[in-house]
Amino acid sequence: MEILRTVDELRAWSRAAHKSDKTVGLVPTMGALHQGHASLIRAAAASCGATAVTVFVNPTQFGPNEDFARYPRTFDADCTLAQAQGADVTFAPAVDEIYPEGAATFVEVEDIGDRLDGVSRPKHFRGVSTVVAKLFIATEADLAFFGQKDAAQVAILRRMTTDLRLATKIVVCPIVREPDGLALSSRNVYLTSSQRIQALALCRAIGVAESLVGHGQRTAAILMEAAHAVFGAEPAIRVDYISVVDWSTLLPVETAAPGTLFAVAAWVGNTRLIDNTILS
Ligand code: AMP
Repeated sequence: MEILRTVDELRAWSRAAHKSDKTVGLVPTMGALHQGHASLIRAAAASCGATAVTVFVNPTQFGPNEDFARYPRTFDADCTLAQAQGADVTFAPAVDEIYPEGAATFVEVEDIGDRLDGVSRPKHFRGVSTVVAKLFIATEADLAFFGQKDAAQVAILRRMTTDLRLATKIVVCPIVREPDGLALSSRNVYLTSSQRIQALALCRAIGVAESLVGHGQRTAAILMEAAHAVFGAEPAIRVDYISVVDWSTLLPVETAAPGTLFAVAAWVGNTRLIDNTILS
C-alpha cells in the first residue's frame, strides 16, 4: 500500500484509477484507526476498484480548548490496518498541504452546522466540511464512506454535496460497538477504567429510547426524559445534549417517525463522547 503526502499525488492516483475505469472510494479519518474505521475501509474496498484512506488530524475542526494536541496519533498501526482491510493508498498530508500558508477559504453549511455538536463545538462542522470538500475535490471520488456514529456530520456532508453539486455519493455505514455496547471511538483511549464503565450510559440511553419506540412510544419529550433518567443515575457524567431530530435538518421533532435521529453527547470526565440511533 502506497503512502501519499501531497494533494497532487492523491489527484494523480485518483485520475489514473478513473482512467482505468475503476470506481474510486474514499474513507476520510483522523487516524487512531479502530474496528469502526476498519468496517468503512472494508465497505469501500468491497464496492470500489480503488480505495483511499485519509489520515489527517484536522486542526480546523478542533476548538481552542479541545484535544487537537493530544489526539491519539498511531500512524504506523493505521497503515497496517488500512492495508489489511483492502486500502490501496493512505493519504497522510502535513497540515500546510491542506491549509497552505494564508489559507482563507472555508466551506460552511449554515444553520445545520450550528445544531447538535455545533452548539457546544462552534466552527467544528465548518472545519469538517472544509476538509471533506478539499478531499472530494482532489479525488473526485465516486463514493465516500462515513460512519453513522457521527450522524450530525453525515447530515452536514449530505447537505454540502447537494448544495455544491459534488459528484461524490455518501455511503453511511453502521456503528461498530464493543461487545458491551460502547460505540468504538478513537477517544475511548482517554477513559480510565471507571470512566469506561460510566460511558456505557450513552448506549444505555440509546437502548432505552429504542425500546420505548419498540413499545409504540413516539413522543420525543418522553424519549428524552427516559434518556435523562439513565444519565441521572451516573452523576459523574455531564450531558451535553439528548436530541430527537430530523436526520436531514437536525431540527427537533415532537414525534419520532421512522428515520428520526435520536442522538446523545456527554462528557465523561474530560472526554466528550457521542452515540445515536436511527429510530425505526
Ligand atoms: P474519525 O477518525 O473519528 O474522524 O472518524 C472517521 C470515520 O469513521 C467517520 O466517518 C466516523 O463516523 C467513522 N467512525 C468512527 N467511529 C465509528 C464506529 N464506532 N463505527 C462506525 N464508524 C465509525
